[in-house]
Amino acid sequence: VKHIMIDLETLGVGHNVPILEIGLTMFHLPANGLPPLHLNMASKQIDVDIMDVMFRTGFCPQPDTLAWWRQQSYDPSQTVDRVSLSDALSETVRVFREFEPEFVWANSPSFDLVILSQHFDAVRIPKPWNFRQELDWRTLKWLAKQHGFVLPDGGPNHRAVDDSDRQTEILKEMLRHVRTL
Ligand SMILES: [Mg+2]
Repeated sequence: VKHIMIDLETLGVGHNVPILEIGLTMFHLPANGLPPLHLNMASKQIDVDIMDVMFRTGFCPQPDTLAWWRQQSYDPSQTVDRVSLSDALSETVRVFREFEPEFVWANSPSFDLVILSQHFDAVRIPKPWNFRQELDWRTLKWLAKQHGFVLPDGGPNHRAVDDSDRQTEILKEMLRHVRTL
């Protein structure tokens, strides 16, 4: 069964905030049974032109989030090769058409997938999934921890594709953990 993990990097919290990066990780999970120890993943990082995002959406960076970014080891302001919001979302649609994921994960859908939907609306491109496909990584994390799962050391580095890869890797570990209880 085909799955995709989405992580966004944004310049604010809430629903009306501009995005600057989209991370997409495509992977397969067995319909039943234990996920393999080594999951094959394909992933994609899309860096979005923040000025274009602001023009298209009207969403503005939030000072607290900018201050938070300055404290991170990863500095997205060093990335100069950015694409317009339309191109970024068209590329996202292309990835979905090619891979045809059945399920769409995020941490959580109520953050990343709502914000991404707002950006699709702003440029009038239909989003390539529907609400029935959405799955919540954070809920699974809660469940796995209830069952004794310990998260690996080291948090996300906040580069979108690194985070979507990391969440996918941990998802596999959590599923293996819950499966082998
Ligand atoms: Mg992230």
